[in-house]
Amino acid sequence: MGSHYDVVVVGAGFAGLYAVHKMCDELGLDIQAFEAAGGVGGTWWWNRYPGARCDFESIHYSYSFSEEIQRGWEWSERFAGQPEILAYLEWVADKLDVRRAFRFNTRVTSTTWDDKAARWIICTDDGATCTARFVVSCVGGLSVAKEPEFPGSETFRGELYRTSSWPHEPVDLTGKRVAVIGTGSTGIQVIQSIANEAAEVTVFQRTPNFAAPLGNEPVDLAQRRWNAEHHAELRAGSRQHMIGVPYDPPSGPALAATPDERRRIFDKYWDRGGFRLLVSTFSDVIFNQQANETIAEYIRERIRERVKDPATAALLCPTDHPYASKRPPFETGYYEAYNLPHVHLVDVRSAPIEALTPIGVRTSSKSYEFDVIILATGFDVFTRPLLNLGLRGRDGLKLEDRWANGPTSYLGVQIAGFPNLFVINGPKSAVALYNVPLATEDNVNFVAAALARAIADKTATFEATYEAEEAWGRLCEGILNLTVIPHSKGSWYMGENIPGKARAAYFFAGGAPLYRAICAEIAHVGYGGFALDRVSAPIPPMVRLDPAAALLLGSMLARGMKPLDELNLDEVRAVAESLRELQLPGPAMRVETVEAPRARIYIPDRAGPLPVIVFYHGGGWISGSLDLADAPCRRLADENGAIVVSAHYRLAPEHSFPAATDDTFAALSWVWKHVGAYGGDPGRIVVMGESAGANLAAVAAIRARDAGIPLAGQVLIYPPIDPEASTASRTEFADGPFFTRAIGEKMWGAYLGGAELTALAAPSRASSLAGLAPALVLTLELDMSRDEAEDYAGALASAGVPVRLHRFDGLFHGVFNMSAFIPRVREMYASIGEFVATCKEQITEVA
Ligand code: FAD
Ligand code: NAP
Repeated sequence: MGSHYDVVVVGAGFAGLYAVHKMCDELGLDIQAFEAAGGVGGTWWWNRYPGARCDFESIHYSYSFSEEIQRGWEWSERFAGQPEILAYLEWVADKLDVRRAFRFNTRVTSTTWDDKAARWIICTDDGATCTARFVVSCVGGLSVAKEPEFPGSETFRGELYRTSSWPHEPVDLTGKRVAVIGTGSTGIQVIQSIANEAAEVTVFQRTPNFAAPLGNEPVDLAQRRWNAEHHAELRAGSRQHMIGVPYDPPSGPALAATPDERRRIFDKYWDRGGFRLLVSTFSDVIFNQQANETIAEYIRERIRERVKDPATAALLCPTDHPYASKRPPFETGYYEAYNLPHVHLVDVRSAPIEALTPIGVRTSSKSYEFDVIILATGFDVFTRPLLNLGLRGRDGLKLEDRWANGPTSYLGVQIAGFPNLFVINGPKSAVALYNVPLATEDNVNFVAAALARAIADKTATFEATYEAEEAWGRLCEGILNLTVIPHSKGSWYMGENIPGKARAAYFFAGGAPLYRAICAEIAHVGYGGFALDRVSAPIPPMVRLDPAAALLLGSMLARGMKPLDELNLDEVRAVAESLRELQLPGPAMRVETVEAPRARIYIPDRAGPLPVIVFYHGGGWISGSLDLADAPCRRLADENGAIVVSAHYRLAPEHSFPAATDDTFAALSWVWKHVGAYGGDPGRIVVMGESAGANLAAVAAIRARDAGIPLAGQVLIYPPIDPEASTASRTEFADGPFFTRAIGEKMWGAYLGGAELTALAAPSRASSLAGLAPALVLTLELDMSRDEAEDYAGALASAGVPVRLHRFDGLFHGVFNMSAFIPRVREMYASIGEFVATCKEQITEVA
């Protein structure tokens, strides 16, 4: 056995170079790194084909971790070409002096876990073997080309090139008849670049792609200077953006805009180039097929404008998949290339390629002659580079067996069963839709911190648990299913470009800010979801989020939402009111307002007398309003055929305890006496509230019992019950998601205003709960007030009160007001509907 190292790193692309620097120079570890290529650069070492360039601006598609590196390199073009990116990575490698850690031209062929020694045995294609405590894979997602599918390639007498292993010597295409197979990002770059060089270019297209302008241009001196001065703010903007670039946020939903408005916005970002067309236009194009069709048709129109021959234009217009359900390619003069007389488009969907022949290409309908064939047929993405490491984990577990049904991982960073193996930008990481250098820095920083912790604690094994991997897989899949991406056909996003490869969620589509927040939470709680020396820490709340709730949280983070407890009173009130934008609009109906007590009365158009709901809004006693409750009250009235009285109450801290409970009880008493005049049945009143409003509803139910006001029911939607309750959920969800213990304590403090805690604030402290109205208690899995609410439900039941308790998995405090973005809120309404119907029945039976 050869030498032993702390860490073996594989790969010398963006990820490998930074990983080696971080682990050698910052952690002081003993490292050996391997790279199959003859030098550094990864993707940019291999992909030397004509026209290869990046599609995020180079000032963003570059390292951000070192001010010296950021300032020391000036990009000549907005989107640099491959030679310049490679030169940059070589310059970085020299600057960081990381080449010394690498053995180039050396491929790792097997990587085997030795459980007894708790280390990896690594074999390379030069016959050498070494061992390491940790392996950090930086093998890249797009580093293994798709296997050639065409028989006869060895018979072709001309020149055959693959874009992903393009020769280092210049390839002269002048005067030659060239075939290009493939019209993905690579094929498009090749075709537009060689169109004017070759004598004939024949493009074999199976599926047309939605290509939009890249918007490349040289960067002048003034712009370079500006870039150098604004690095910090550009990077801060990038880190807050869903895809890791500081582009404008979208303008709201496309479906809410007029056709003219849509055209104006699409034109603007079409002209500005790159991913802006996707991320800066409209918020719903990636989520809603109908919205997506507006952008898809816009691109088709632009294609038809640019390509002169209508039949060719029609062939170039995609119709079988939504825009951006495959990674969007970008172009510079691609469509105009088809106006050249010597550029031909062949549809190989209708007549597939059967073989490469000695003279060229044979399809099912025709034989073509060429001097050169260029294969731009894509990659076996994410999984193949890792499988090629020949990984064997605990008990000889083979990675190919573990992944028989598609890749599994936790954060894309670890695979259960493979201890001490860390993966940078692995399957189910955020990298596919996240500017790679920044995604890489996030991943490497996370892994380096985990290694530092393991080393400091003398942890022998650090591994993801199977449960955490499953939870992460569910989140990845759930989020992807909310987008149009699963409607793609044949995309590497879903593993579908490789025959026989499992269709699955290959990446996390929740966006960079959410991914980063989840990683931060996991590290903060002591690596939740990982087992250190086989002792596992619980899976953190954010990994257990409902996918829609996760996406919403992600977009809040992208908008720069501060933690609630860092907000002042005005800001908390503004946030509460802004929740109205997250609600589904309520149906139109008659609404009356009364002034004493202040309330809105929602009256559905039904024959009465109708059951009555008295509703108290949430907002922690310090915020919220009748406006906030407007849409929910309309929906409650409509769905339950009930009169809904939305009652105002005075807010703390201006009006502390007992103002709110006095107001809400006064409103209830008034309803009992007067609701008949509005068509309501005073014998069928259900008192209901959300959050702090639910606390007030619970107290009102007790006061009603004591005052002899009959209630048909009480609905408590995630109520805070007692500020002094000591529960597991208070501890587990102290940092959220969304609602934190600190803001909860501030709210209780403002409400109580120093008053003694009695049953009028904390209903569980009532001397007796017997004789209270039947209760429905709705709780949320990821809510710090969950346990006190469930304990209260238990106490009600023990006191003989009929109780239904319904806990919703994956949701966090406040979601009742987020119905437009969290579809499962409808389950809460359904639960309320069933309960209110039962209340009606009970009363009807008695009557
Ligand atoms: P890579 O750059 O792929 O490096 C991995 C290295 O690991 C390779 O050099 C490989 O030889 C080595 N390796 C793999 N297996 C072994 C083994 N068993 N033994 C030894 N060595 C091994 N992303 C963007 O965000 N924006 C872009 O504009 C963009 N443009 C792209 C253009 C092209 C043509 C391609 C193919 C990809 C592009 N990407 C782009 C994705 C690109 O792969 C990443 O941006 C980034 O370069 C990946 O860096 P990496 O270090 O993770 O992996
Ligand atoms: P790709 O997007 O998977 O495209 C492969 C192309 O080859 C598709 O048009 C595919 O057609 C075609 N193809 C594959 N097998 C075929 C067959 N048997 N017969 C006919 N056609 C076949 O691969 P890529 O273009 O290399 O791009 C991969 C990724 O690399 C991109 O999505 C991007 O992430 C990255 N990249 C980025 C840039 C950039 O602009 N910076 C440039 C290049 C690559 P079907 O669609 O019908 O399968």
